[in-house]
Amino acid sequence: MASYLNIERQKLLELISFDKKITRAKGLYLFTDTGDKYLDFISQFGAVPFGHNPDFLWQVLTAQQAADPGVMIQPFFSEGAQQLSRALVEAAPGDMKYVTFSCTGAEAVESAIKMAKAKTGRDIIVSATNSFHGKTMGAVLATGNEHYRLPFYPPSESFLHVPFNDAQALEDILSTRPAAAFIVEPVQGEGGMVTPAPGYLKTCEQLCKKYGTLLIVDEVQTGLGRTGKLFACEHDDVEPDILLIAKTLSGGLIPISACIAGKKAWTTEFGQLHTSTFANNHLATTIGCAVMKKLTEEPEIIAGVARVGAYLQARLRELVDRFPVAFKTCDGMGLMQGLTLQPWHDEESYLCPTVSGQGIIVPLVCAYLLNRHNICTLPTMNSHNVLRLQPCYLATEAEIDQLIHALEKAGELITQGKFSALIRAAAGIGEERPGVPDRPYKNPPIVPQGEKLGTFCFFVHPVTDMHTIDCMPGGQQAYTADEIEKIQYWLGKAKAFYGGASPAYYMPCIPSKNGGYVDGWLISSLLTPKDMMRLPKEKKEQLIHSYVGIAQENGADMIGLGAFTSVITRSGTTVADCGTPVTTGNAFTALTSTDSIRTICRARSEKMSLKTLGIVGVSGSVGRLCLLDIGAEFRQLYLIGNPRNKDNVDKQEVVAGEFLYKLFSGVLSESMTPLWKTLTDAGAEAVIQAHVNQLPDEDYPAETYRAMFRAVKQQYLETYGRTEGFPLLLSNDIEHALPVCDVIVTATSNGESFIRPDVLSPGAIVCDVARPSDLLQEVKQNRDDITAYDGGLVRLPANLRFGGPNIAELDTGVTLACLAETVILTMSQARKNYSIGGISSIEEAREVFQLALKHGFCTHLSERDIHGPAADKSQTSTTPKHTAAQVAYTG
Ligand code: PLP
Repeated sequence: MASYLNIERQKLLELISFDKKITRAKGLYLFTDTGDKYLDFISQFGAVPFGHNPDFLWQVLTAQQAADPGVMIQPFFSEGAQQLSRALVEAAPGDMKYVTFSCTGAEAVESAIKMAKAKTGRDIIVSATNSFHGKTMGAVLATGNEHYRLPFYPPSESFLHVPFNDAQALEDILSTRPAAAFIVEPVQGEGGMVTPAPGYLKTCEQLCKKYGTLLIVDEVQTGLGRTGKLFACEHDDVEPDILLIAKTLSGGLIPISACIAGKKAWTTEFGQLHTSTFANNHLATTIGCAVMKKLTEEPEIIAGVARVGAYLQARLRELVDRFPVAFKTCDGMGLMQGLTLQPWHDEESYLCPTVSGQGIIVPLVCAYLLNRHNICTLPTMNSHNVLRLQPCYLATEAEIDQLIHALEKAGELITQGKFSALIRAAAGIGEERPGVPDRPYKNPPIVPQGEKLGTFCFFVHPVTDMHTIDCMPGGQQAYTADEIEKIQYWLGKAKAFYGGASPAYYMPCIPSKNGGYVDGWLISSLLTPKDMMRLPKEKKEQLIHSYVGIAQENGADMIGLGAFTSVITRSGTTVADCGTPVTTGNAFTALTSTDSIRTICRARSEKMSLKTLGIVGVSGSVGRLCLLDIGAEFRQLYLIGNPRNKDNVDKQEVVAGEFLYKLFSGVLSESMTPLWKTLTDAGAEAVIQAHVNQLPDEDYPAETYRAMFRAVKQQYLETYGRTEGFPLLLSNDIEHALPVCDVIVTATSNGESFIRPDVLSPGAIVCDVARPSDLLQEVKQNRDDITAYDGGLVRLPANLRFGGPNIAELDTGVTLACLAETVILTMSQARKNYSIGGISSIEEAREVFQLALKHGFCTHLSERDIHGPAADKSQTSTTPKHTAAQVAYTG
């Protein structure tokens, strides 16, 4: 059936398999249409004191029907309102005189704010950080969590926040900024059930008196017994100027709230100007009266809250002691307790730490408790790592034991790193089949030698939806095909809420061959390139902002933009000024790719000078550097651009012109190659020289490069009367270009594979640098004759893995060159940006490559990559002793 309620709430419920249809509620239990029964530890955020549908309150209501009372009879005061106001004034601490009723907690807060401003003539309202006072305008501005404020209201000069439980901070502000009121919760409920030090509230009371500020005690959540006393402020013997209550007063049946004030806070203006249509409703106030009567006449109820609450707290403490890996701490008072979870460290997966950093783990535990143990819990609103435990006042030790048993099971699973059991519960799939192997792995302990050279942070993300499953505990093998489908659906929903960046893996030590070491973090989001491409501009910016923020929080000396984070920052340009040096890692990626091509050609005695090199994505940063580094060594070059722009080769002309310019101005130092000779014979050098004097003073004189290319091509035509044989061919059409290429570098940022097996020439060597791969899987499956390998892979100076997944299930000791570049620059204590903007110089790239060799990094190739398909049968995957560059480097 279609639902017309808040769709975002619906999505959140679905995400943790909380989308149950509750058809009945009684006492401590909720019942569903499917016959399930759940023990309720939420109690509508503390608004259900006597269990669901308490008989005594329904009797009060039904009795009212027979009497035909005046229920909505404004402007007259209803009988119920008269009685309840009397009961509240009698019960409240201090000398209270006036009660203003409304329907919700937030409205009571609004009343209090207006009252205080009217009384004092002051504008400022002070509240505590991490507080929660509701979501109407005044209440949300007082709420100490900007998450709920900023999307709606800019920061307001009139609402100031001081740290909770810090009386000095309060005095500092009250003494300098005359404030109308200080509003405070005795226990921060939505803040994570945080109890202040004993005496804090009393000191607040004294400070408010000293500075002429009214003290508003917000007992919307704590009030009427929840903490084991009728009012929580009684624990500290405090008499507020204004006292707010709501939740419990409703008896879990009819919304009602009250702002109870003393003479000191009341003004004629407030009394004359503040009204509300539904205030003083007879039915709601009659229920309120029955609630007050019950609580005052049966003191054993609140005594029970204190006793069972203490029992709950003691059992939670035991849990924290027994499962320190799972549970960090617990806090609370009476039957409002919170259990703080530890972040999930998982060496086996990136997904768990990533989502853990974004606050999903409590929801996952809630999903587990609900779907495996039939217990209803939720996180607190401000503190997403706190599990709220807030049963109704009728809860006994038996229900607490039931909860603790379920939490023990959760604690065991978390301690054993069996996070998938919790994810399964959220994704709505069954428990794990026995016999699924773990993916245990451990890096050898590396004792840091010498000086710490710095900390790097490298940005990663899953490249495809399937890769996301690989990044989950157990990887693909832990799930059936049907389960994978469900998990992918679940991940799709999870990304909508948890799409930001978080630390995914910490590497404590990578030693340099040159001495010293670095440590660093992989920082990840759940978004794939496809997801990122769909983001609107401001969401992309937010995503990158969250990556950079996490890197800086973790003390990054160098940030590496892995994979698509480089694309969405326009090769790093949008973060170039973030305050931390940044690299895209393109230099080492390109040069390790060209190194791999040289190594393969040399091992197979293939003469590059007789071959055609095709570069797909040549105008991208990596493709361009590959061209500049190795192009001159080939006979012919095919510069291939974005296949989506079939007829537009403008960009390739620029890169081709740059190549020609650098070839003939000595930058590339590969003169006398056949390609150079072909061009020289056609008079290219003179043509380039003629343009050199006109080079504009720009970082990248694209127009001049294009003109150079066109002029050289024209010169060739004039010399030979034809363009056949001109060695620089441009195209965007892979169908046309690739069949004539012997060696191919493919380095697009297409986000999806697109190169089919049938467009590749027999025996082609394809260095695929793109992530996700540009080559369709069929290439490796159907074309035995072809050497297609992942370019841009390097060996680290030590046999380490970046966690179980090692980025993309790479071999131990092997990593991405772009990550390696980040590490190398950190080892080199580089203090500037590298490989930024897609136009970085070949000289800089070569400098990075030399630094890499110095620190002990080298290009990674398997025997099959080096020797071709024939090596398959005899060899296993190993690393060559020396790549071309090392031979050159070691002389
Ligand atoms: N004040 C406190 C302390 C609360 O805990 C809450 C709600 O949880 C409110 C105010 C807002 O109450 P309501 O949601 O009824 O507006």
